[in-house]
Amino acid sequence: MKPEEHIAPFGTIDGELAVGGMPLSRLAARVGSTPFFAYDRGLLDARIEKLRAVLPARVELSFAMKANPMPAIVQHLAQRVDRIDVASSLEMQAALDSTIRPDRVSFAGPGKVPAEIRQAVAAGIIVEAESKTELDRLVAAGEDLGVTPTVAIRVNPDFAVKGSGMRMGGGPQQFGIDSEAVPDLLGEYASAGLDIIGFHVFAGSQNLNAGLISEAQRRTVDLVSVLADRLPAPLRYLNLGGGFGIPYTDRDQPLDLDGVAADLHDLVDGPIASRFPDASPVIELGRYIVGECGIYVTRVVDRKVSRGKTYLVVDGGMHHQLAASGNFGQAIRRNYPLVVGNRVEEVSEHGVNVVGCLCTPLDLLGDDVELPPAEIDDLIVIFQAGAYGLTASPTAFLGHPAPAEVLV
Ligand SMILES: *Cc1c(COP(=O)(O)O)cnc(C)c1O
Repeated sequence: MKPEEHIAPFGTIDGELAVGGMPLSRLAARVGSTPFFAYDRGLLDARIEKLRAVLPARVELSFAMKANPMPAIVQHLAQRVDRIDVASSLEMQAALDSTIRPDRVSFAGPGKVPAEIRQAVAAGIIVEAESKTELDRLVAAGEDLGVTPTVAIRVNPDFAVKGSGMRMGGGPQQFGIDSEAVPDLLGEYASAGLDIIGFHVFAGSQNLNAGLISEAQRRTVDLVSVLADRLPAPLRYLNLGGGFGIPYTDRDQPLDLDGVAADLHDLVDGPIASRFPDASPVIELGRYIVGECGIYVTRVVDRKVSRGKTYLVVDGGMHHQLAASGNFGQAIRRNYPLVVGNRVEEVSEHGVNVVGCLCTPLDLLGDDVELPPAEIDDLIVIFQAGAYGLTASPTAFLGHPAPAEVLV
């Protein structure tokens, strides 16, 4: 997708990008400082409505909070999704502070220590066990607190999903319990005082290929069908993972959500309805819900020419938005979509480099991008910044102040 296509959902007012119905320079004045992250409430709602409109009614939506744990976002989404998935005890506290019910919160991730597991059991949330050690810690916490822990088994599947930007299942993994080990473990823990309600399979992240996502969902249902026979009660929790990707570069095409949804209707009406009448399938999404609703806004603090190349130096950088610099696990660095937010309708000049204010060549936000002639004090906007932005960036690196975050 081209940068211009990222402007359209936000809209423009008087030649400026609009956020939540406000021209960007006005929003910058309201925030009071740059850089900042802004998340558009209307776009967030539109994304949820779109998902609800196309996915089968029986499918439950879970928000994977690690994509964006800003409390206002969590609170906003808590009223619009069915579940929240957390990956640390701090995220768990944020979820519990929201309006979501504790039994609608799940806790995934490797390395859950006894204290975190005890907190989760006391809270009454679903703990997704990623190892035998965690199962033992769950048993201990349940006995200690006199409550029955609610547990799902995170399964490392015996298949891998192609097309994922980050693979998190299949082959050897730190995530989940290998599928072939699950039946024996279920036998071993059958009378250990745990309420094992079902399974979670998360095969990978940032997938833009609808066919491959559907294939992963089908294979997950087949795998869980075998494992569910070993549960003492009918399956109640069927977390199919997610992995829906968003287009970050001009080479990426948006995911064919309608295609994923059509296949999921067949899966839900067919195998899931017949094999798991008591389970609502869960789709767990992070970036697909929040990623495209957010922008990172920086101000030009210098414009210089070095041997014929123009550099726009901005007051933000990789310490706030690491992914846009290409250093968040990307194999090849490509520009994230960026525009001059207060000059979105002006004609572009050629080949400027947008760099952050950190003293390292890694702090490159735009390599040879076409932008309108930007001057000091103009606002450079980086799109696709609603997920894995602030909390996934090395904010302490070089000691600049933290950016503001607003939900508009
Ligand atoms: C990170 C993660 C997600 C969210 O991934 P996105 O690519 O942001 O959708 C969902 N589930 C689990 C278990 C995760 O670890």
